[in-house]
Amino acid sequence: MTKQTKRGTLCVQAGWTPKNGEPRVLPIYQSTTFKYSSSEEMARLFDLEENGYFYTRLQNPTNDAVAAKIAALEGGVGAMLTSSGQAANFYAVYNICEAGDHLVCATAIYGGTFNLFGVTLKKMGIDCTFIDADASEEEISKAFRPNTKALFGETISNPGIQVLDIEKFARIAHSHGVPLIVDNTFATPINCRPFEWGADIVTHSTTKYMDGHAVCVGGAVVDSGNFDWDAHADKFPGLTQPDPSYHGLAYTKAFGKMAYITKATAQLMRDLGSIQSPQNAFLLNLGLETLHLRVPQHCRNAQTVAEYLEKHPRVAWVHYCGLKSNKYYELAQKYLPNGSCGVIAFGLKGTREDAIHFMDSLKMISIVTHVADARTCVLHPASHTHRQLSDEQLKEAGIAPDLIRLSVGIEDVEDILADIEQALTR
Ligand SMILES: *Cc1c(COP(=O)(O)O)cnc(C)c1O
Repeated sequence: MTKQTKRGTLCVQAGWTPKNGEPRVLPIYQSTTFKYSSSEEMARLFDLEENGYFYTRLQNPTNDAVAAKIAALEGGVGAMLTSSGQAANFYAVYNICEAGDHLVCATAIYGGTFNLFGVTLKKMGIDCTFIDADASEEEISKAFRPNTKALFGETISNPGIQVLDIEKFARIAHSHGVPLIVDNTFATPINCRPFEWGADIVTHSTTKYMDGHAVCVGGAVVDSGNFDWDAHADKFPGLTQPDPSYHGLAYTKAFGKMAYITKATAQLMRDLGSIQSPQNAFLLNLGLETLHLRVPQHCRNAQTVAEYLEKHPRVAWVHYCGLKSNKYYELAQKYLPNGSCGVIAFGLKGTREDAIHFMDSLKMISIVTHVADARTCVLHPASHTHRQLSDEQLKEAGIAPDLIRLSVGIEDVEDILADIEQALTR
């Protein structure tokens, strides 16, 4: 079979190529263990001398096929599925950071990641400095220290819908000898492939558009294979020095371009164990098969809704990077020329109560703690997902207290508009 590279084809075909007589559809390998005929064969797997399956916490064929599809979509050398997006971001960072290390991160990121980096990693001895992603290269560079190990940002921030200047971030990271990690959840590889702009590691909450139907929580870490860990060997001893838990194997020597993702699987997943269940990987794969059809429909609908809201007399402001009036319009044209995502942030004229009244008046559109699935839904971050942040922290994270996050689904846009219209005029 010739190598397929078009994104739509990869969504449908990548990852699972059955041999003669095997199931056409990716099967769920519902098995924790795998059989070998000799203890010697099994021992070679444990020593990473051979690639193969022995225990689903480390590797499972269903998970591997789906991870391979995501890696192909992003243009990476390998990927690992995790039980959630939170686990993906934690593993992506913890794979190269340990107690005493430091991380630089854009302030405008998902609330869960903000807590993970600012609170939980701190307890583990890893410090994080949050910076304004729109600041100059000089300004952002000031946050770097000798012990800084990574720079982190989101292609499109959740829920602020700020667009990351990935090339600028990559230049900053690389000038300090560290990788750029980009959470590409909202853009998906259909709209943006951060590796093409210099990012080194990509993460996903597959819970969002990739699954797309709100049926399973999951995540993924993807390795571009491009970062030269050996060139900064002193910064990344975990990858370049012998690992005592594998008889002194050094990942960069043994696995080359696959060093980072192999360590994440063979060491972090082995020890921390936030594996995605093969059942969920199967469902995720069904979502991925239509990702290239759903994402453009989300974007078309969101563009129509954003233009409608912008003209509505009851609406105070609309933030959507597909609008010409938007601060991130130019960046979106560069990084997201085919569309950004289905998520719009906006505020109503009036009080916080008016926002809550509007949301309660919606009929088809439901209030749920979710974004980026087929059904249009709405959320008030200040009273839901981000309620643990102070007003000051909310502002820093790019979230106005009156911000309503509208996740536009793939229904007929006329019905979405009609529901919003009746709720606004009630
Ligand atoms: C939802 C989300 C996460 C966390 O993912 P979970 O699957 O909910 O753990 C991380 N990053 C972004 C951008 C998200 O939207």
